[in-house]
Amino acid sequence: MAAMELYRLLHEQGFGGRKACKELVEAGLVEVDGEVVDNARARVDPDTLETLLVDGEPWPLVRGHLYLMLNKPGGYETSHKPTYYPSVFSLLPWQYGNLDVNAVGRLDADTTGLLLLTTDGQFVHALTSPKKQVGKVYRVTIKHPIGQELVDQLLAGVLLKDDDVVVAADAVDVLDPHTLDMTLFQGKYHQVKRMVAAAGNRVEALHRIRIGELALGELAPGQWRHLSATELASFG
Ligand code: URA
Repeated sequence: MAAMELYRLLHEQGFGGRKACKELVEAGLVEVDGEVVDNARARVDPDTLETLLVDGEPWPLVRGHLYLMLNKPGGYETSHKPTYYPSVFSLLPWQYGNLDVNAVGRLDADTTGLLLLTTDGQFVHALTSPKKQVGKVYRVTIKHPIGQELVDQLLAGVLLKDDDVVVAADAVDVLDPHTLDMTLFQGKYHQVKRMVAAAGNRVEALHRIRIGELALGELAPGQWRHLSATELASFG
């Protein structure tokens, strides 16, 4: 990023329209490297800038694309225009709402767990493309006790009626009579719930714990963090 006027930097960081960003600066609400700068046109170099405070809050500069992981809580929609529940995007800093962040695939409103969010359209495309083989692991709570027959059917493949396709789990690990981990390489609408239903049982709760090498880990529900460079590189 080249040096630019301060109000423009704020605009690019998602602080709102150019006029609003000029007003923020002129109101004396912006500190650059420890000093209040109230000239909206003062030039700052994002590459050397160390601390930016806006209205008393430190703002870690967004440099390049954002790649985030969120532990999606239940009762949130993976949509910018939610119908019944709040949007998962409302869990991020409001400024990110101005930066064209999108989800990599969707989780149902009642599904919890690992959701990737990014400003990088190519990343979304690459990870959701049928050609890209990224395994997703779901922890599934099942209504009726899990029998070998259910496991066999999920592994052999079940017919998803509306899509008229047979889909199979890549792996199924039974953890207890009502819980299994299931690995899928596709991402069809309500896929886990429909597969379990097609095999004669019912999903009571669904939680995604892994995408490729990336595990949800200790992130609490509703919390998000940036992916590390290593994590990002693991998606190739
Ligand atoms: N499969 C489902 O049924 N729902 C999800 O949210 C994800 C996978």
